[in-house]
Amino acid sequence: MSKKIIIAGAGHGGIAAGAILAKNGFDVTVYEKNKRKDVGYDWTDIFDRKAFTAIGMNVPDESKFNLKQDMTFFGPGMGIALRQDTPEDQLEIQMERKTIYDCLISYAEECGVKFEFGKAVDGPVMLGNRIAGVKVGKKDILADLVIDACGINSPVRMGLPKHLGIQKEAQQFERFYVWRGFYEKIDCGEVEDKFKVLLFHKGKLGISWVAAEEEYTDILIGRFAPIDEEEVEKTLECLREENPHLGKKLVRGGEFVQIPVRQPLGVLVADGYAAIGDSAFMTVPIIGSGIANSMKAAALLANAVIDDKTQSYSGATLWKYQKDFYDKIGSALAPLACVKLLLTRLECDELDYIFEKGILNADDMTIGADSTSLGAMLGGMSLDDIKIKVGGLLNNTDVLKKVIKLGTDIVAATAVTAAMPKEYNLRKVCKWVEKYNGCFKR
Ligand SMILES: Cc1cc2nc3c(=O)[nH]c(=O)nc-3n(C[C@H](O)[C@H](O)[C@H](O)COP(=O)(O)OP(=O)(O)OC[C@H]3O[C@@H](n4cnc5c(N)ncnc54)[C@H](O)[C@@H]3O)c2cc1C
Repeated sequence: MSKKIIIAGAGHGGIAAGAILAKNGFDVTVYEKNKRKDVGYDWTDIFDRKAFTAIGMNVPDESKFNLKQDMTFFGPGMGIALRQDTPEDQLEIQMERKTIYDCLISYAEECGVKFEFGKAVDGPVMLGNRIAGVKVGKKDILADLVIDACGINSPVRMGLPKHLGIQKEAQQFERFYVWRGFYEKIDCGEVEDKFKVLLFHKGKLGISWVAAEEEYTDILIGRFAPIDEEEVEKTLECLREENPHLGKKLVRGGEFVQIPVRQPLGVLVADGYAAIGDSAFMTVPIIGSGIANSMKAAALLANAVIDDKTQSYSGATLWKYQKDFYDKIGSALAPLACVKLLLTRLECDELDYIFEKGILNADDMTIGADSTSLGAMLGGMSLDDIKIKVGGLLNNTDVLKKVIKLGTDIVAATAVTAAMPKEYNLRKVCKWVEKYNGCFKR
């Protein structure tokens, strides 16, 4: 009889892993709290198209996406503009979230995945130390494996016993509180920088983006602390003064949401359980993109499950997923979590200094489809570049100290990540995860 797998939440990585597993004979059911028509936000996303091929799908037809526009970054003083110039072959794609879901869900259904929409998962069903299923309404639904794809506030992850070493919640400065909506676009001629990203806009620890699309202006306001409607309105007023194409009428989206911006979850697995996507904090911490990583992780998780000849789907056999994920994706995300911490430690004038003195330049801000590691982002730096950066740092002791701290954080995080236990031994794993999380304190 086929082994039964529950995917809690229709997260991208969960559906993708489910598709591969169903194709390989597993009995896979997704429980999603939303109705089918409400799955996915009413806005577009930017991601690496290789996410599709990673899970064995074809890249959707070109009519279903655009190529991402280059971004222009401004510091708080709005003095220097750093304009990306992404090579054509590195451009990510921009696709409607609902279209991504249409593609993923229809592929998964073709592979044999069953979907139960409008069914919220309330938490895990525990049998001793094993996650034996999920609670849906008043029912306990049992399975051989639960894949947790419920997102940042997953009730499955949060309901696990502490001694399994799986962190329940993202902490302060590890969540980005976001408001996003599309506004009518006022016709006022050619817009110079079509996709503006304003760092520490008006002195607030966070970003605002203003992207002029053909039919609307896309607004994202993000902070490291919760925001409310009043703050959104105030920010929109300021943005309108500087961006006359930003109209007043909200035409799409308009939601408060959260994005994990931190190191990946330290322990991804337990007996009968694996976390994926935002539930496992797999976003790129400095930009909050998580679609490609969650789909790439799906292939790794599915392989570990298929390879488990014992069919126990225990922490020990699923540890292959943990190791493969950190090897291929997670170990590159951990240093970027340190970079995010540096950003939260900087003052506005220090960030302006970094822009003005070329410590960060347009090349450093050019993030392409393959820029998933600090090395790739900073790679190709010339000797002249290095001299400019070092010169700038040496002339500002406060910034220099913070950058040195970043360096030591990265060394520590890299070393601890590399020292992850080779095998799943709960005592050793818990000891290790404590050290790992300790590397990312603000
Ligand atoms: C404003 C914004 C913009 C973003 N832009 C990008 C971008 O451009 N590119 C990019 O790569 N990423 C982007 N992201 C991040 C991206 O959304 C996630 O990283 C990515 O979707 C992976 O998360 P997920 O699918 O695992 O989780 P989610 O997207 O959170 O999906 C979780 C699913 O589980 C369901 N669910 C939740 N709780 C329950 C429950 N109790 N029971 C049943 N179902 C449940 C939810 O309804 C949802 O369908 C953005 C996020 C936000 C908020």
